[in-house]
Order: sequence, then C-alpha cells, then structure tokens
Amino acid sequence: MTDILSMTFDELTKYVIGKGHPKFRAQQIFLWLHKGISSFDEMKNIPKSLQTELSESCCINFAERVRCQISKQDETRKYLLKFLDGNCVEAVFMKYNHGNTVCISTQVGCRMGCTFCASTKNGLVRNLLPSEMLAELFAIIKDTGEKISNIVLMGSGEPLDNYDNVIKFLSLVNDERGLNIGLRHISLSTCGLCDKIERLAKENLPITLSVSLHAPTDEARSAIMPVNKAYGVKRLIGTCKAYFEQTSRRISFEYTMIDGKTDTLSQAKELSELLSGFPCHINLIPLNKISEGDLMPSSHESIQKFKACLEKSGLTVTVRRSLGSDIDAACGQLRQNYIKN
Ligand code: SAH
Repeated sequence: MTDILSMTFDELTKYVIGKGHPKFRAQQIFLWLHKGISSFDEMKNIPKSLQTELSESCCINFAERVRCQISKQDETRKYLLKFLDGNCVEAVFMKYNHGNTVCISTQVGCRMGCTFCASTKNGLVRNLLPSEMLAELFAIIKDTGEKISNIVLMGSGEPLDNYDNVIKFLSLVNDERGLNIGLRHISLSTCGLCDKIERLAKENLPITLSVSLHAPTDEARSAIMPVNKAYGVKRLIGTCKAYFEQTSRRISFEYTMIDGKTDTLSQAKELSELLSGFPCHINLIPLNKISEGDLMPSSHESIQKFKACLEKSGLTVTVRRSLGSDIDAACGQLRQNYIKN
C-alpha cells in the first residue's frame, strides 16, 4: 500500500497525473490529507470512483488516541498514540505563553542507550514514517481542538537516526497547504550524531538545533551516553561550531543536571571553557526521575551555583521548567508503551 500522507505535494501531483487524473485533484487530496482525515470517503469533493481507486492502492497513516493523561500541575497532556501496525508512541501537548507546543516522537523506542532516559530502555523497535509524525499532530489537534504553533522533536527516538523521514516530515509540516508551521518554530534535539549534524547543516533549515551535551568531558559523557564513544566531546563541539558558521542559527545545548555526575563546580568550569566565546544557549534540565536506575536530580542549590558559574563566563543559561512530571511527560520520561494486538 502506498503511504500517501508521506508524499510531498510534488510527489502527489506526479502520482495523481500518472494515474490519469487531472492535476487539480492532487491539490484537493493534499488539502484533505493535511486536515488529518483517516479515510478516503471523507474527501467530499473527490469523485467516488477516485476515492475507491485510492483506497485500493493507498493507506492513510493515522494515530489512534489510546490514552490521554492530563497534568494537575499545568494542563500538560500526555498522549499514548497507536499506529496501524499496533506500535505505540507518546506525544505531549504543552501550553506556553509563546504558544501551544507539541513534543513528538520520531522513533518507536531508541537505540542510543543514554542511561538516564526511559525512551531507550527497550531499544529501537522501528523508525516512524513522515506520515506517522504528522499523524501524531493531527491526533492531538483533533483531541484538544487547539492550534499548534510550535513543535519540538524531543519525544522518544533520535531524530537524526531517522534522518530522511524527519527531513521529509519537516517539509510536509511546513507546507503552506498543510499545517504551515514555520521552521523557526521547530526544534530538533539530537544526542550528537556528528555526521548527521554535518548533513543537516547543508540543508540550511532555519530550525533550532538542540544538542544533548550533558557533560563537558569525554569521561563523564561516555559514562552516561554511549554515543560519546563514537563522537567525542571535541568532535561534537567542532561540528556544532561549523553548523553555526554555516547556518547562522544559534545552537541550544541541553544539559541534564544529575546529582554528583554532571553538576559539580569543576564541571561548570570545564563547560564554561568548552563553550567560551561560542554564541549559543545552555538549557539546564533538572533530571527527571525514571523508574530504572538510581540517578538523582541535582539540588536547587547546586543548579543555581552551576548556572551562576556559567553566567560569570558570559554564557546564556536558562533552567528548563519541567511540565507534566506528575504524569511522566517530562524530558526523558516518554516510553514506547508497546502494545501489540
Ligand atoms: N534523542 C534526542 C531527543 C530526545 S529527548 C536527544 O537525545 O536529544 C529530549 C531531551 O531530554 C534530551 O536532551 C535528553 O537528553 C533529555 N533527557 C532524557 N532523559 C532525561 C531525564 N531523565 N531527565 C531530564 N532530561 C532528560
């Protein structure tokens, strides 16, 4: 079955013309698909015969709402969404002053193995298709009745480990005939796959690149992030600098504050030296607890001291507010919640 929702407008046009139909049908079909419909018979201005023809050769990927948990603290909603093959991912809807933000997953599971993250505990099951990432958004728009203005690719999965599908998703979600979400309103977070960051730089997309740094030295970073054994800190920072030179987009570094592991004052100094003079942003994330492992979040006091040390060196630092931690919807708490029928 052809995955019709993953087609770009141009691909769909070629497909429709190739089947002997007039070009304008492609536009009509594209508009319906990007309203988030799940069946061809909802395409009201398309002749029945074409609806039938499409349904015989194409499928519309769709995400079914299996569960929705609403945070008592801040109205954050965490969704468990099921795809056509029974695999599930989680996605999160958050209300910020700057607009509604959805955090989507890019893979079912993850193979990166970061010790502090729940998403990777059962390894990688499979990549998500561009259509499935869109389907996460459609499911949430339908359920909340709200508009979405920002997207963060920070759910389960490593976006750059599913490179082609993620790039295609970005172009689909940005299409003015579809959800029309500006690339400047999209953040992509990576654990630091340098070769893919280099490729991404060449695409020259005005998205925000977030890099999960979490430690300033190879010793401390390799202890919590296996990916560091492939691309060490020096290479990673070099790649980030080249990315900034090529795109002029400031990188945002994510740094999880783990008690005794990443939050010492000497690490704050090492981090300051590492990033000194590089126009970037540092986002400190107090560790969110997961049931596996015994890592603990840093105390409020050590976070403030760490922050002050970085600021003294002229770096721009914020401490991330953790939305939805009471429903395990905060960073690193999303799981595949694998349900197969
Ligand atoms: N694979 C991508 C996107 C995933 S998660 C990446 O690694 O960047 C988004 C952010 O949450 C990452 O910075 C990740 O390192 C961080 N994170 C993971 N587990 C966490 C936890 N338990 N507490 C706080 N942040 C966590």
